[in-house]
Amino acid sequence: MSEILEQDIKFLPGVGPKRAELLKKELDIETFRDLLYYFPYKYIDRTKFYRISEVNNNVSYIQLKGIIRHFELVGEKNKQRLVAQFQDESGIMELVWFQGIKWVRENVRTNTPYVIFGKPSIFNHRASMIHPELEPADSQNFRTGVFQAFYNTTENLKKKFITSKIINGLQFNLAQAIDGKIYETLPSYLIAKLKLMPLKEALKQVHFPENPTKLRAAQFRLKFEELFYIQLKILSLKHQREERFKGFRFTHVGYNLNTFYEKHLPFELTGAQKKVIREIRRDMGSGRQMNRLLQGDVGSGKTLVALMTALIAFDNGFQVCLMAPTEILASQHYINIRKMTEGLGITVSLLTGSTKTAERRTIHAGLADGSLQLLVGTHALIEDTVNFRNLGLVIIDEQHRFGVAQRAKLWQKNDTIPPHVLVMTATPIPRTLAMTVYGDLDVSVIDELPPGRKPIQTAHFFENRRKQVYEFIREQVNAGRQIYIVYPLISESEKSDYKNLEAGYELMREVFPRYKISMVHGKMKPADKDAEMQLFKEGKTQIMVATTVIEVGVDVPNASVMIIESAERFGLSQLHQLRGRVGRGASQSYCILMSSYKISNESRKRLETMVRTNDGFEIAEVDMQLRGPGDIEGTQQSGIGFNLRIANLGRDGEILQHARNTASDLLDDDPRLEKHENQILVYHLRKLKNTEFSWSSIS
Ligand code: ADP
Ligand code: MG
Repeated sequence: MSEILEQDIKFLPGVGPKRAELLKKELDIETFRDLLYYFPYKYIDRTKFYRISEVNNNVSYIQLKGIIRHFELVGEKNKQRLVAQFQDESGIMELVWFQGIKWVRENVRTNTPYVIFGKPSIFNHRASMIHPELEPADSQNFRTGVFQAFYNTTENLKKKFITSKIINGLQFNLAQAIDGKIYETLPSYLIAKLKLMPLKEALKQVHFPENPTKLRAAQFRLKFEELFYIQLKILSLKHQREERFKGFRFTHVGYNLNTFYEKHLPFELTGAQKKVIREIRRDMGSGRQMNRLLQGDVGSGKTLVALMTALIAFDNGFQVCLMAPTEILASQHYINIRKMTEGLGITVSLLTGSTKTAERRTIHAGLADGSLQLLVGTHALIEDTVNFRNLGLVIIDEQHRFGVAQRAKLWQKNDTIPPHVLVMTATPIPRTLAMTVYGDLDVSVIDELPPGRKPIQTAHFFENRRKQVYEFIREQVNAGRQIYIVYPLISESEKSDYKNLEAGYELMREVFPRYKISMVHGKMKPADKDAEMQLFKEGKTQIMVATTVIEVGVDVPNASVMIIESAERFGLSQLHQLRGRVGRGASQSYCILMSSYKISNESRKRLETMVRTNDGFEIAEVDMQLRGPGDIEGTQQSGIGFNLRIANLGRDGEILQHARNTASDLLDDDPRLEKHENQILVYHLRKLKNTEFSWSSIS
């Protein structure tokens, strides 16, 4: 709307072609708008003055008032620095310059009151500050206002002297250039109803806050708007999809589900499983296409839910496919399902990369004539040659390992009505993230483990306890249990990384000469890997030395100890997944995190979290706080969550919920956004980059 915002940044006073080039390259700032929406990452209160005697190594940026007693040039000819003695009523500190010495000497006067600003440090009991900002104490500085905004820059920008302060100055020039030319981007009725700060005011306050209250209101307004438009987009696409696509209506509950429930179910369903199955049944009977994400911690019993969902599809005369990310997992599902449905008369096949051609042909034929009801498999399911007669349901396990495009291909296996889709993940995603990344899916959560499970006990040990750990392994193996020992592997392609693993394997053989020990890693041939896994599964080996290839889904109920070496090198969600490999049987299970003494604060926090809780959702929240949402597994493909300019999915959960509710209410009232007062929304929705949402339109 506002044309001035589309102007090339080089036309802004203080920029010019050279700086424009840099801003574009380093910060993606090409236009006035880009700069305006380049928000500060922090603010410093400039109403507060410190005294020199109060300086310690824990204060960050501060300002002080005092006078410079004298200057002195120190050091050899071409490595000179300028040192000034700066004094206030409480003491003396040193100001130091390595660059711009000439300018300081010519412009800064001694024995005149100055306000200095910077990050002090204490060295040899003396306070000092390198390259302080200086201003005569009597000058009224309108630019910084009460709070000074700080902007991220890059090394390259700093080399060219484009500092946070310079960007601050550019923001000031920009504010003058666009004064009176900013137009509102939300309908006025919403602004009034939600008591939001008008855009014009918010953009001013966010760069040049007058006081903390106004700053908060400005940030709230801008975060809300950012999240609101994303939610409006996601939810309106969801609306459109639901209108456009009918879904198969599964109204029957018949022989398969009933017989299974009455005769085959080896245990009582947990309350959470029942709740989720009800949600799924409601979806599949509604006449709309189901798109549901099923989240449940490792071991919460998702497979059973998947199977019962499939049985509903069979009862209604449809075929089902179940896709898993690895061959091991696919065949585990296949075996489990065969076992659980024995006697029901359901036809099941397994299709993976290693399925022989002849068998493949049989499978294709069975799918085409409808005699094959359930196909379990890996990526091989996606191939174009795999065609169903009447595919009614697609189940995807461990969803984050599949790309969005792969998911889409499965949806398209039907020409007219798309199959229902159930996506299962054992990597809990914080609620805020799910709302955005999977915002177009409905979410079910299994938040309860089957009864009788003893919580896994977790401990963090340093090297000095290694002997005890071996003792413990011996005890457990003698009691008939099995042990995992996992080594980190940063990249499966780096040879040096295997040293740890192989050394660990040799060491275990020395320490436990009488035990049988398996080893698996990603570089082994799939057949060899499976064979080793199989030995462990059958209890023929007692210790499994492995990389994270064992992370996903393998079920060995007799394994009761998970030892993770160099645990500080793993991410939280990975640690949690690995721990989930034990605690699957009846006996008490343990997870031991071994680490070196030297670990970062962040690593410490991760390990502490693991020791404190077994709750995957709590762990996911901590993970997101530590890493930011962009790195959380499962979000990478979506492209959402890291393009945010001001909102933070880790911290702004409440605003996000508020934005989603607002968008949802609005669409209830005006599903196609046809009302006059909502046209401003339509206009701005169109401008949202579509690439950010490509995943949403895969239907
Ligand atoms: P995940 O959610 O990790 O896929 P699984 O479906 O593999 O979990 O279930 C883990 C184990 O719990 C399996 O051995 C399964 O048979 C068992 N299980 C599932 N549901 C129940 C239940 N309601 N009561 C007891 N055991 C259950
Ligand atoms: Mg599973």
